[in-house]
Amino acid sequence: AKQRLHGIANHRPVTPDGKRLELAANISSFKELEIALSSGAHGVGLFRTEFLYMDRNRFPKEEEQFEVYRSVAERLAGEPLVIRTLDVGGDKQLDYFELPEEDNPFLGYRAIRISLDRKDLFKTQLRAILRASHYGAVKLMYPLISSVDEVRAANAVLNEAKLELEEAGIPYDKGMKIGIMIEVPAAVMIADLLAEEVDFFSIGTNDLVQFTLAVDRMNEEISHLYEPYHPALIRMLKMTVEAAKKAGITVGVCGELAGDLRALPIWLSLDVDELSMSSHSILQVKQRLLSTSQEESGEVFEKLHSCRTSTEILALLNAFMERVD
Ligand code: PEP
Ligand code: MG
Repeated sequence: AKQRLHGIANHRPVTPDGKRLELAANISSFKELEIALSSGAHGVGLFRTEFLYMDRNRFPKEEEQFEVYRSVAERLAGEPLVIRTLDVGGDKQLDYFELPEEDNPFLGYRAIRISLDRKDLFKTQLRAILRASHYGAVKLMYPLISSVDEVRAANAVLNEAKLELEEAGIPYDKGMKIGIMIEVPAAVMIADLLAEEVDFFSIGTNDLVQFTLAVDRMNEEISHLYEPYHPALIRMLKMTVEAAKKAGITVGVCGELAGDLRALPIWLSLDVDELSMSSHSILQVKQRLLSTSQEESGEVFEKLHSCRTSTEILALLNAFMERVD
């Protein structure tokens, strides 16, 4: 079966009724890129840059970061590469950077909040990403955005970095696209406002489920309450994608749910542009995509709205899967 799956690595990711849905890879190192490419990934939809900062005893220098980002960009040979700025804190720690002891680290000092507090570190990373943008189709993404102010503050640092590079005569892509993760409920509720500030959204379902349901994604005690198919989530996804469509920006999904076969009719019905997932899910999702029509997906999705529980939602999605099989 594995061999048969590999046969579709070069197939176009299109439904029987012609809807194209790009399937990209989530990676966190240059090494993982090869697996992604052999799975037929359309570029990288999420480059988690944390690894560059972990497993060492000091912050990586601009040059070190630039080398990695450029290598990935060049290896992708023109296919898109979404580089997400540092997303530490919460579950991810750095040995050499003491994060405060917090009662609620997932709600605390992490991700874009650290970047905006430590603009020196942030600018170093932005300069490295900008420089790499000269060598491929690089896009920049900010994690854990919860307000328009944060986007503007981050872009202000980005503009400083651009000016510095210009003064030094260092090339970068002036048209580099800027996007944000939608993974905090507040961002969903103001998705229409955020959509006016950026070029794309990428929905981070891992954190979005955690925050929407107030269920710690690491806590085993309550893992039964971590329900990605909760009706609240379905509504959140719909709001986000509709806001993006209305503003004419692209929208993708990069949380675990993107690689879950049961969720495919949701993405097709909402008409998202891209799914980014761990490489080992790509071929399976593509195989399913080749036999799932957008029209039938729309019919299932309509029915989901009258469901009151995730059990009901999953029953419908499972029944649809079996029918397509
Ligand atoms: C997410 O939250 O869905 C996501 C993709 O980011 P991470 O898992 O790195 O928090
Ligand atoms: Mg996240």
